[in-house]
Amino acid sequence: MDRNPEAREDWISMVRRRGASRSTFQEEVLATVLCVLYPDPVGGYPPAYARDTVPTLPELYPDSEQTLPTPSEIPFTPGSLLGCVSGELGLRRFLEERGHTLIVTSDKEGPDSEFDRHLPEADVVISQPFWPAYLSAERIAQAPNLKLALTAGIGSDHVDLDAAMKAGITVAEVTYSNSISVAEHAAMTILNLVRNFVPSHQYATDGGWNIADCVERSYDLEGFDVGIVAAGRIGRALAKRLKPFDVNLHYFDTHRLPEETEQELGLTFHESVQDLVRNVDVVSIHSPLVPATYHLFDRELIDTMRRGSYIINTARAEIVVRDDVVAALESGQLAGYGGDVWYPQPAPADHPWRSMPNQAMTPHISGTSLSAQTRYAAGTIEVLEDFFAERTPRQEYLIVDGGALAGTGAASYSTDGKASPGSSGR
Ligand code: NDP
Repeated sequence: MDRNPEAREDWISMVRRRGASRSTFQEEVLATVLCVLYPDPVGGYPPAYARDTVPTLPELYPDSEQTLPTPSEIPFTPGSLLGCVSGELGLRRFLEERGHTLIVTSDKEGPDSEFDRHLPEADVVISQPFWPAYLSAERIAQAPNLKLALTAGIGSDHVDLDAAMKAGITVAEVTYSNSISVAEHAAMTILNLVRNFVPSHQYATDGGWNIADCVERSYDLEGFDVGIVAAGRIGRALAKRLKPFDVNLHYFDTHRLPEETEQELGLTFHESVQDLVRNVDVVSIHSPLVPATYHLFDRELIDTMRRGSYIINTARAEIVVRDDVVAALESGQLAGYGGDVWYPQPAPADHPWRSMPNQAMTPHISGTSLSAQTRYAAGTIEVLEDFFAERTPRQEYLIVDGGALAGTGAASYSTDGKASPGSSGR
């Protein structure tokens, strides 16, 4: 039964207008929302939660005028596991009460995947960067009804933005929702590598007491030169978190920060990434994947770094050259590499980063803590509400709209084919 006839009518007329050139809308079906989410925990769903709730945060994100998501309702329990298949991003009741159809799957690879099978009927595709539904030009061509590609999280480089623009698809993401989560993960990984935590923990777990083995690669972070590539939301949040460690903070960005921000955070600006990396001991990467950053960290650049430097990458794997990182760790040019982003995702079992020395890699998890999921699931509902009501989502959530880069997308992305591969991992 249709419990929200008004929204249904709005949606039908909106889809008719927007979709006139793309498809004939089936009145009896309303919107089909195809959600690609990561698999459930192996122990089953729901998990035994470690805590009962997540903290309530202030109305505004830190150092920002941007409010946290403001949907009209939160149809899930904050702090629950929403990003996996059974979590359904908390969308099932919200959508079905309005007469829409929700399809959820984790099966996304190859032409026989559930994702590919349902694409032709999808009006909206939602996925998270941790388990991206790669929307290549070929896939977009298979999706004549598609009007909205929504990233629950941040980063829309898994969508071919040029193809999305040509097809009139809106691409949106929930900007800022997990920026602090990633900054915390980056800070943790820096400390992990510099202090040699992972092997030391392994000795303890294995019943050993190998102090010398643990500390032969262990240093204090204090006094290190730490370089941040891109001082956006995550980069600045990392600087704020590292400052109390009494490190010397450096950064490179395409735009220099205001002097007062540099002073407040104790940041030294470098005119180029080349200049930055040769003057620091640790580099943490926080730029988007755009043509200028694609394979930026190759052997040539890494060889200019101080011997025994560390690279932390929680941005996108293709900003570094996979095998050049492995070679630099094996030669000792790099003392450590860590982060959570891989190419492709999920990484195959034989991906060399799983077995390379001195690494502190995790699967792509930094932006999908239960705290982050609460925010980006709420932001997903906010975007869907706007979309169903034919309101333009907030500018900060927009990547592509009306056939062009828009909002955050206009500031962050360019579209010469490399910035928005959309086909990674296929
Ligand atoms: P922001 O948009 O706030 O910051 C990005 C910064 O990168 C901006 O300051 C931008 O500068 C700068 N920039 C753009 N191009 C370049 C370039 N060629 N070289 C150096 N700097 C550049 O994004 P966030 O901080 O929120 O996120 C950054 C990235 O982190 C995302 O693009 C995403 O790929 C990744 N991410 C990873 C997550 C994870 O789970 N691991 C989760 C969330 C994000 P300006 O605007 O001045 O041009």
